Amino acid sequence: MSDAVLTAPPVDIEALSISLRWPNTKVSCPHCGESRVSQQSAGARRCWRCKQCRRSFTVTTGTKLHASKLTLNDWWNAAHTEDDSAASMAALLGTSRVTARRVSRIVRSCGLPVGERRFAALLQKSDPYQETTKPWLQWSEAQRRVFTAVRSYIGGGGQRSGRYRKRPTYRRATLADA
Ligand SMILES: [Zn+2]
Repeated sequence: MSDAVLTAPPVDIEALSISLRWPNTKVSCPHCGESRVSQQSAGARRCWRCKQCRRSFTVTTGTKLHASKLTLNDWWNAAHTEDDSAASMAALLGTSRVTARRVSRIVRSCGLPVGERRFAALLQKSDPYQETTKPWLQWSEAQRRVFTAVRSYIGGGGQRSGRYRKRPTYRRATLADA
């Protein structure tokens, strides 16, 4: 790791991240874009729930940092290091080389100079996210109708599946069976 002075992360990095992701404090749902959301928890890890699709999210949901086990401070440091190689990341964050390589790749993919803008870029909505994890969110109304029709035809999903399905009745064994 180089001895270059790192910009220390701000005290409330969560608040800064929120303001970078949603300027003018217009928090909107990363799943459907709805702006009517209710805050579920305050403090260190703020969480909201969407009033339209009812799914919850945090400041990193749907971004390049989605589901990362590293803290926002770690990502801040990673975005502020001149040497963004995997070896440097491993030394800086104390992670495995596999994780360090991933961090290095993500940080470099922003294509922005080292600093706060690079950190802000990490918090932008990552387009492949919805396509890979929730493809049905991209479906048109017609696609949805076809899916529902096929599903009801093959008998899967809905209230008739799982524990709601009528269970077969079995005849109780009697002595005559023996
Ligand atoms: Zn939503």
